[in-house]
Amino acid sequence: MKLEKGLVQVYTGNGKGKTTASLGLALRAIGRGMKVYMVQFMKNAKYGELLTAEKLSNLKIVQYGRDCFVNKEKPEKIDVELAHKGLKHAEQIVMGGEYDLVILDEINVALDFKLVSLEDVLGLIKNKPAHVELVLTGRYADKKIVEIADLVTEMLDIKHPFREGVRIREGIDY
Ligand code: ATP
Ligand code: MG
Repeated sequence: MKLEKGLVQVYTGNGKGKTTASLGLALRAIGRGMKVYMVQFMKNAKYGELLTAEKLSNLKIVQYGRDCFVNKEKPEKIDVELAHKGLKHAEQIVMGGEYDLVILDEINVALDFKLVSLEDVLGLIKNKPAHVELVLTGRYADKKIVEIADLVTEMLDIKHPFREGVRIREGIDY
């Protein structure tokens, strides 16, 4: 199934649910016969969605990052290299046109940390094949990205159990 016109969506904001919203969309798209590819930036850990992807032929997830926090003021060279590689890979996937829904998970954070260039991401958005739906997730979406996108949702953090001392939970947070 190919979309006639794929759009650009952004899930941003401080509330929980950005990555999982994109995975919910993936679930819906796969049900309609679409092929989904997610590139996760700044991540390198066994999230539940990676295990799901092993079971679904139309869902691919790859990670480009280290399993630790990146220092925003002074990122390691390897953090920049991995993010660059991730974006190059994402470009190949988007331009290839085989995948109908491409999710760039945490790309907004990679941009905010200056691991990848805004021009490169804007270029990818502008040059994508018409049928590809592109989703960009992560806090601090750049205003140029927001401007160019067709759909922008900001998750609002009203309550999170983290502040009550509840630690991250397997299956819910990762
Ligand atoms: P999820 O992956 O659960 O959809 P997210 O993509 O919206 O969350 P991120 O900013 O990518 O959120 O952060 C991921 C991790 O931080 C998750 O473990 C999530 O539960 C946690 N988290 C998200 N929002 C908050 C918040 N407002 N307070 C505390 N922890 C949060
Ligand atoms: Mg996320």
